[in-house]
Amino acid sequence: MIHNGQDALVVDPGDASPVLDALQRDGLRLSAILVTHHHADHIAGIAPLISQLKAAGLSHDCPIYGPAREQIPEVSHPVGEGDQFDALGLRWTVWDTPGHRAAHVAYLSDTQANTPWPAQLLLPGDTIFSGGCGRVYDGSLAALHQSLERIALLPPQTWVCPTHEYTVANLTFSKAVEPDNVQVDLALERCHAQRARGEPTLPTTIGLEHLINPFLRTRVSAVMASALVQGAADPSPQAVFNALRTWKNQFKA
Ligand SMILES: [Zn+2]
Repeated sequence: MIHNGQDALVVDPGDASPVLDALQRDGLRLSAILVTHHHADHIAGIAPLISQLKAAGLSHDCPIYGPAREQIPEVSHPVGEGDQFDALGLRWTVWDTPGHRAAHVAYLSDTQANTPWPAQLLLPGDTIFSGGCGRVYDGSLAALHQSLERIALLPPQTWVCPTHEYTVANLTFSKAVEPDNVQVDLALERCHAQRARGEPTLPTTIGLEHLINPFLRTRVSAVMASALVQGAADPSPQAVFNALRTWKNQFKA
């Protein structure tokens, strides 16, 4: 959830109750639902959320944005590459980010002086996580790599708000890929402490991900070397990415 003290938007509500709890606790009005892709843990909460808001007399026009190239019955505003809309006083631009699924979108905000956020916000769904990236379901490795290469070009201060708290497990893999990367050690230490205090490790930033996320570091020689040991066909960014993703699928910390 992202809110400005009055209005809130939620991304991929897999579960309605934490959203309803937060809306009631903080006296917020739900002004939009943004869906990145068709997986139950991202959409199962939409229908109960809408019906419970109606039951509580809080029914109003709440647009539900989602990928046009997918059948999600609750989506009222199907969107795709380049579409724009306004929410929370920000202008949002839709990117097609296929790979995890063939139909997957991400949402990128602009910056506005009168909002609480100092930088652009990227809502990437399951495309990128802190220290990692999504698995490939019905998308492809080539598409996922391209989506990540595009995200990597965003300004370093961009806030990245992925949809899963996988950071510690991902950084354990980063450490296996790059045993000598001190930035990974520092991030792991910080994230362990945050989790021990019950805090999220997210959002992250593009700048930090360039330092700790092996899937954005396919041109770094230590990453290339590890990928080649794991069977990468050649040291090209795509082949390194493929080898890392395949390795991560069976990686046990
Ligand atoms: Zn997913």
